[in-house]
Parts: sequence; structure tokens; C-alpha cells
Amino acid sequence: MKWWLREGVGSRWNVALRSFAYPQLRSTGACFRAACVTVAILIVGLFFIRLVLPSQLDDVSPNVFCEEDLMELADVYYVIPKFENVSIDEEWCNEILKREKKLEMHGVYHTYREFEVFRGEEYFNEGIDIFEECFGFRPMKFKPGQLVLGKENNWIRDEMEVDLIWNQIFHKVYHCGDTGFFPNWFIRIF
Ligand SMILES: [Zn+2]
Repeated sequence: MKWWLREGVGSRWNVALRSFAYPQLRSTGACFRAACVTVAILIVGLFFIRLVLPSQLDDVSPNVFCEEDLMELADVYYVIPKFENVSIDEEWCNEILKREKKLEMHGVYHTYREFEVFRGEEYFNEGIDIFEECFGFRPMKFKPGQLVLGKENNWIRDEMEVDLIWNQIFHKVYHCGDTGFFPNWFIRIF
């Protein structure tokens, strides 16, 4: 055993080095501590990633109430083209455009788990067309409601980028109507 790994040499660093060099010496406590430290580092890392990457606002629609400060805060809006069977309209779209945010598409009708079952091109394109007609450009990304995209709908990935759970983990995602898995106050903090 190397001198700097002998018992009694140094203190805390020595214990750490010994446990690194000779895993069999590690106690369950040390393993638990190592796991805790790893988790803590991951959480802190994630905190900063979420802080830096553009924040998003889901469920943007004329039919969903959205607090003004959330509209101000978010960098990217995920717009529902035809929520509760009502298409986004020119007047509303112009107001949204004035805010100069990035705009993407969130569901078509955004019924519960809308894209869990097969949705054909015609269904999907209705959303794209409504979006394009109103805003004057096509969305670059699509995020299905409840982040559910059934295997039968994987064809959409060939059409455009699809945001699912990893997007939600790495970005702060607020919700108009505050109906997200985590409430908006929590997203503001973390
Ligand atoms: Zn949604």
C-alpha cells in the first residue's frame, strides 16, 4: 500500500483516497454519501442548465387564461391551434406576434393525451395550416399534449422536431392555466 494511502496519514482526504483506491474498504455509509453527492451535483447542474436555456410557456391559446408576467417571462410560446374547437384568430395572433417570442405548436386540439392514438397527416396538418395561416410561418417544433406521442405517430418526427420529456426536464416550462405536472411557482424557483 502506498504511503499516502496508509491509515493515519492525513485525515479526511486520506479516507477518501483509500476508499477510492480500495473499494472493498468502503462502508455502506460511504457509498450512500457518494450517491447523495452525485445526486446533489446532478440537481445543481440541472438547475443551471434550466436557468440558462430558453424558458417555455405551454397551453398558449385565446381560450386559456395566462398571467401577464408569465407571458413576459417565457421565451418560447407553445400555441394550441384549435383548443376547444376554436381556431386561433388573426387579432389574437397579431397580439402574440407583437411580443416577439419564438412560437411553436402544442397539440392540434390538445384533448387529453391527443397523440396517444394514431393521428394521420390530415389531422396533424390541420394544426399546421391553422398555425401558418394565423402567424404567417410554419412551426419548427411540435409538442404533443401531456407529452404523449404514441408509436403510430412517430412519422411526425420525420416532419419536424418533437419535444417530449427530455425537453421538459432541461427547460423551465410554465403553463397557462397552471395545469402542469409542477406548478408555475415551482418552475420559477427550479
Ligand atoms: Zn399542454
